Amino acid sequence: MRAYDIILKKRNGGKLSKEEIEFMVNGYVKGEVPDYQMAAFLMAIYFRHMDPEERAILTEVMANSGDRIDLSSIPGIKIDKHSTGGVGDKTTLVVGPIVASLGVPVAKMSGRALGHTGGTIDKLESIPGFRTSLSEEEFFENVRKIGIAIVGQTANLVPADKKIYALRDATATVDEVSLIASSIMSKKLAGGADGYVLDVKVGSGAFMKTLEQATELAEAMVGIAKAHGKKAVAVLTNMDVPLGKMVGNSLEVLEAIETLKGRGPEDFTELCLNLAAWMCHLAEKGTFEECLAMAKEALESGKALEKFRQLVEYQGGNPEVVDRPTEILPMTDKTVDFIAPQDGYITAIDTEKIGIASNYLGAGRKTKEDTIDYRVGIEILKKLGDYAKKGEPIAKLYISEKSDVESALKLLSESYKFSDKKPEHKPIILGIVK
Ligand code: URA
Repeated sequence: MRAYDIILKKRNGGKLSKEEIEFMVNGYVKGEVPDYQMAAFLMAIYFRHMDPEERAILTEVMANSGDRIDLSSIPGIKIDKHSTGGVGDKTTLVVGPIVASLGVPVAKMSGRALGHTGGTIDKLESIPGFRTSLSEEEFFENVRKIGIAIVGQTANLVPADKKIYALRDATATVDEVSLIASSIMSKKLAGGADGYVLDVKVGSGAFMKTLEQATELAEAMVGIAKAHGKKAVAVLTNMDVPLGKMVGNSLEVLEAIETLKGRGPEDFTELCLNLAAWMCHLAEKGTFEECLAMAKEALESGKALEKFRQLVEYQGGNPEVVDRPTEILPMTDKTVDFIAPQDGYITAIDTEKIGIASNYLGAGRKTKEDTIDYRVGIEILKKLGDYAKKGEPIAKLYISEKSDVESALKLLSESYKFSDKKPEHKPIILGIVK
């Protein structure tokens, strides 16, 4: 077999066999297929795409390139959740404890910030002492004892994806449905759960800007899961506006705790309850409606909040963060307001720019080696459809001495659009793919 012939076959629109996909992916991981041939192969996929069978094979070959976690020793149906990435997305911090408090085991590996989007692991690390790297024994023991553990991805989880993703990033081949779906689902398959709830973000702060693109991605991911005998539901959710009000690490943990206390923003609370309900439903705890009622009860009764406290405690964090979050979390009292430049209803927010602005303040990394400033971020005071008067603060920037406040303010001013007419309300949940 030669890489040349496989590239040529895909370039001409052919369907690849398992052996051919294995030859390319495994060869690339081993260094036998060079970067330039893999780059041409990826570009051929970019233009010619893959059918559902090829996607399922690519996903499996990638998942098999490293460790695959075996969760079978944990009793019960294990359901994982994945978000395709957004701004202000702290859902795992709320959904995980809700679901675990309802008896569904949560053995979760989460990611770090990527581009303009934040990462659960970075957010959790803003809690003093919280360890996101546990030994395998500790990870399993915590799930068995308290029903939940959230850790960073192990170093040898899907090495093929790490190498291919870096190449895609440098060769303009990131945004192709088969490549995104297989990249995400290979990590999910390797994570060992029995099923997945996929939160596919749509809009200005997401990878997928239109509902059509997001639906295509959702169908591809659900198709891959089912081809591997896994349960899956994708929830298409609105990312035309940051989720909740807080963007930034400590700020998002604070908002998650408020939400677990029943005082969270409406859009964020609704999304968390729905995702938790789908997870419980896939774990066979009841119909979706029954599970939704159970999720609400877990939030209202404080059961989910207590599960969060246990999670923090078992992973070495200071559990008092639940009672006194603003004292325990690293916070700053240095703030700058972003002022409405005119009267009017807010009709659009370029949410990707909000994410980048938050990074200018220090909430993300410019390079892999960069450290994150947990204290900084943005509080969105006015969202889509709200009326703002000229001179009124519409966002609050939490800053440090290192923040590039000027660049952040410039991005914010480019991000907001105003009009005399109130825009139509867009719901948080835009569709379901099963
Ligand atoms: N997230 C991933 O893990 N992979 C992609 O290709 C895109 C987003």
